[in-house]
Amino acid sequence: MALLIPQPTSVAAASSSTDSSVHLRRTLPVTFRVSGSQLRFLDNKPILLKSLDSFKNTSASSRAVKESQNLVVETSNKQRNTQVVENELDPFSEMKQRFLSFKKEQYLENMEYFENLAKEQKPKFMVIACADSRVCPSSILGFQPGEAFVVRNIANLVPPYQNGPTEANAALEFAVNFLEVQNILVVGHSCCGGIKALMSMTDDDLTSSNFIPNWVRNGKPARIRTQANASSLDFDQQCQHCEKVSINQSLLNLLSYPWIEEKVAKRRISIHGGYYNFVDCTFEKWTLDYKGSESKSDGEYSIKNREFWC
Ligand SMILES: [Zn+2]
Repeated sequence: MALLIPQPTSVAAASSSTDSSVHLRRTLPVTFRVSGSQLRFLDNKPILLKSLDSFKNTSASSRAVKESQNLVVETSNKQRNTQVVENELDPFSEMKQRFLSFKKEQYLENMEYFENLAKEQKPKFMVIACADSRVCPSSILGFQPGEAFVVRNIANLVPPYQNGPTEANAALEFAVNFLEVQNILVVGHSCCGGIKALMSMTDDDLTSSNFIPNWVRNGKPARIRTQANASSLDFDQQCQHCEKVSINQSLLNLLSYPWIEEKVAKRRISIHGGYYNFVDCTFEKWTLDYKGSESKSDGEYSIKNREFWC
């Protein structure tokens, strides 16, 4: 039985702490080291109770009973501590609290807004961002529910129209033709693994049927342009260069969709690029100058309204 009970000193340190992070840090090793797994620790209970029965059935002294009661209290505390650790380890526990906070502080405080939103959505923005967990458009740009129709994929790529259907252009079709968004914003970012994969591709990757190379080669024109214009840079700098070039390539690819170009030409939609640098937390934003790009040769473009937020 003793082998199944966590070491008292460690649990005591955990239970006396008021700092949850410290609590977690101190308690975790104990739980795993002694118990092997949390489930096994919880399984101690029947073993302990059986041992206590044996105390009662014998002519044990009151001291032994008292000690056993103390043991019950102590073990009960340990089990509660372990339960706390389990809750802290459950990713849905925190998620639940966040959701309930959202409901209390946003939904219930803005009932009319959310009731209207339940009937229809009219987002002004369609956002295409990378799937990277560090690049959440709603977090970094503050989009509220109903403000942006978002699709995220590896390297925030917009495939050209002629490449056929993907989830990215299905989302575009819905946002442009049904929701009638007024702006399309392609958001790239620093240290993009998808762009690195694009820049690292070998000749074999270019014909691979694996999903990642098969997807990122949608950005091949950006890779070619980067290799032509930034060959003197080291590989990481070339990747950073390509991160921005590929955003503009995606803006050009947006124009390959007839129903997008028509709306851009009529100024019913504007298309924008954004670059989020999460290393120094800056954001660069610009707009494709459609009229200004008309005189350019194929693959070239003009931009306007460039801003740097820092
Ligand atoms: Zn990325």
